[in-house]
Amino acid sequence: MEFKEIRAKNILVRCGIPGIDYVINPYIGCRFACKYCYASFMGRFVDKTIYDWGEYVYAKVNAPELLNKEIKKLKNKGRGKEIFLSSVTDPYQGAEGDYKLTRQCLKILADYGFEGVVSILTKSNLVIRDIDIFKKLKHAIVGLTVTSTDDGISRYFEKSAPAVSVRLKTLKILNENGIKTYAFIGPLLPHFVAESDELEKLFKELSETGTKDIFVEHLNLAKYIRNRLFEEMKDVDQEILKKFYSSQSKSYRVELEEKIIKLIKKYKMNLLKDMVIFHKEFQKLKNNE
Ligand code: SF4
Repeated sequence: MEFKEIRAKNILVRCGIPGIDYVINPYIGCRFACKYCYASFMGRFVDKTIYDWGEYVYAKVNAPELLNKEIKKLKNKGRGKEIFLSSVTDPYQGAEGDYKLTRQCLKILADYGFEGVVSILTKSNLVIRDIDIFKKLKHAIVGLTVTSTDDGISRYFEKSAPAVSVRLKTLKILNENGIKTYAFIGPLLPHFVAESDELEKLFKELSETGTKDIFVEHLNLAKYIRNRLFEEMKDVDQEILKKFYSSQSKSYRVELEEKIIKLIKKYKMNLLKDMVIFHKEFQKLKNNE
């Protein structure tokens, strides 16, 4: 594992993700090392391959200092804008425990009186540490990625991230503290088509945490993601790999979406963006071997 402190040139970066205006990525790389991670393409900026993903983390130690300057350039204190932490790293991965770069950035936004939405996405229970700051922000929303209810599955696909049972408990704690939350079911793992009970269990357990807003995304098998994922899964049964390939077909997506819409209604939840997201644009990203 390679760890380095670096100084970034800027930190509040404009973003093309629909609904999000800016992103803050306090780290380059992610220790959680999820097999399906689309952010592995970041390696091209630091002279790494997609296969190195999860093996390096660079902390942008001047992130708070930069944000302090950059936030002041937004008009109307950012009213109507959304800042997302983070798009290509997990803002609460292990290094955050020591560096507190995410915490310092959030504190700057809160102290400045940022008027827009600050949205967080993580797989870590470390996020609970910052409940005090979420309460000070004008509009904070905290999402936990939950891809299954089975810790064995999360340990396999999300090697170094906290287990899904921990993430479900984290959502419950955030909800009990009055923090606006959402669950991100992404990527939708292919076994859910054949095992509807598992999908139902996922919605039921999310509902029991008090979470209402759900963001759902299909598995993205752009070439560079597929190359790394299948390299990591090289020892698994070919039948399982076939299921992953079939997840890219329209009929598969339609079947899964129908099941999801029923579950959303049954558990009285809201499907954010009113649809299950399928990022066609990632399919076009060039392979980065
Ligand atoms: S936690 Fe997010 S950024 Fe980190 S490896 Fe997993 S999917 Fe990628």
